[in-house]
Amino acid sequence: MKLLEGKTALITGASRGIGKAIAEKFASEGANLILTDLFYDDNARALVEELSATGVKVKMYASDASKFDQAQAVVEEAAKEFGQIHILVNNAGITRDTLLMRMTEDQWDMVINVNLKSVFNLTKAVQSLMLKQRYGSIINMSSVVGVSGNAGQANYSASKAGIVGFTKSVARELGSRNIRCNAIAPGFILTEMTDKLPEDVRKEWAEKIPLKRGGTPDEVAKVALFLASDLSSYVSGQVIQVCGAMLT
Ligand code: NAD
Repeated sequence: MKLLEGKTALITGASRGIGKAIAEKFASEGANLILTDLFYDDNARALVEELSATGVKVKMYASDASKFDQAQAVVEEAAKEFGQIHILVNNAGITRDTLLMRMTEDQWDMVINVNLKSVFNLTKAVQSLMLKQRYGSIINMSSVVGVSGNAGQANYSASKAGIVGFTKSVARELGSRNIRCNAIAPGFILTEMTDKLPEDVRKEWAEKIPLKRGGTPDEVAKVALFLASDLSSYVSGQVIQVCGAMLT
């Protein structure tokens, strides 16, 4: 039997990068998928076709995770279609990197809303379903810089540190109902998000990592699979770093 057979997972920011890799991994283990992203574009359409071909049920919704009402609406619609939601992966995230001296209020607000408020929005939206089911695994995408901090990323690091506090609180609050909540803190992962960095900066990062390379989205997805499945049935309130020993 596959690890996620009979389970339904909702993944935000799923049309590319780490979110897409998690969707592919979960589909390969038999999960039905509710995917969201800002737009239902060609990327999203191609992904839905690719995943549907594996035999699982897949639906993609255009929904802005940073908006409370949109999170409520998408979960309501998806719940009608899928019945239950067992797994939530709060993956959507953005960067607006700059030194604090130059950071605008807008850059601060955007990053906090998309990275942190979205986690609150979606968790609130699925909470009552999970409580009724007495089953749930919530996985929040933090970052190693949420643990260590990083110059030029005060907004991003604060949002990712906020996710850690939220994750631990939810794990304590909902544990008695068999709802687990964990965070993944990736290091330097090769996606479009990090592709934006200049070549020399990317080389420098890789040099600093003991495993001497950036990670792949699939390597993050494997940890998400562990946390989503019953392989981790006694793991909750934890932050798992996936960073090639970049931060120890
Ligand atoms: P990415 O930019 O490649 O993909 C992010 C996806 O989220 C995109 O499809 C984007 O459209 C979507 N998105 C953005 N804002 C959204 C919103 N408001 N509502 C719904 N969807 C939205 O990024 P990635 O590298 O795949 O990162 C995924 C997650 O992992 C993010 O939370 C990121 O902060 C985190 N992370 C990434 C790295 C890395 O090195 N790539 C490291 C640590 C943490």
